[in-house]
Amino acid sequence: MDKKLNVYVERCPQNHPCPSVKVCPVGALSQVGNNAPTVDHKKCIKCGKCSNFCPKRALVLE
Ligand code: SF4
Repeated sequence: MDKKLNVYVERCPQNHPCPSVKVCPVGALSQVGNNAPTVDHKKCIKCGKCSNFCPKRALVLE
């Protein structure tokens, strides 16, 4: 089964710059203001780095 990175917006406090944006090796995550990050699925290589990094488990590779 092909995995996909899902963003669980309700788990993200949306009150800070997302640290996972800097962790992504291909620049697939972007954030507008303090909103929950969004993923560019065309860029994402499904490495799971952001998923392991987010302490709120708002980014899940599944
Ligand atoms: S899974 Fe990897 S490539 Fe995809 S958004 Fe997260 S850090 Fe970037």
